[in-house]
Amino acid sequence: MANRVKIDCRKYPSDQGCTVAISGALEEVVELGWLHAKMHHAHKGEEEKALKDWIRSNAEAASD
Ligand SMILES: [Zn+2]
Repeated sequence: MANRVKIDCRKYPSDQGCTVAISGALEEVVELGWLHAKMHHAHKGEEEKALKDWIRSNAEAASD
């Protein structure tokens, strides 16, 4: 079974005070994190590569 990683919006202050956390296999978190950033945090299409790279380097090991 693949180890899960997570990214937690609470650690990154935003206008919305978002409390969403996403966990799963790294590539799932990268994809879903990007969709969440685009839909919920108004990131633009051209930021896709930079934001996905950012998620890859900031995702942490999940305990479950
Ligand atoms: Zn969020």
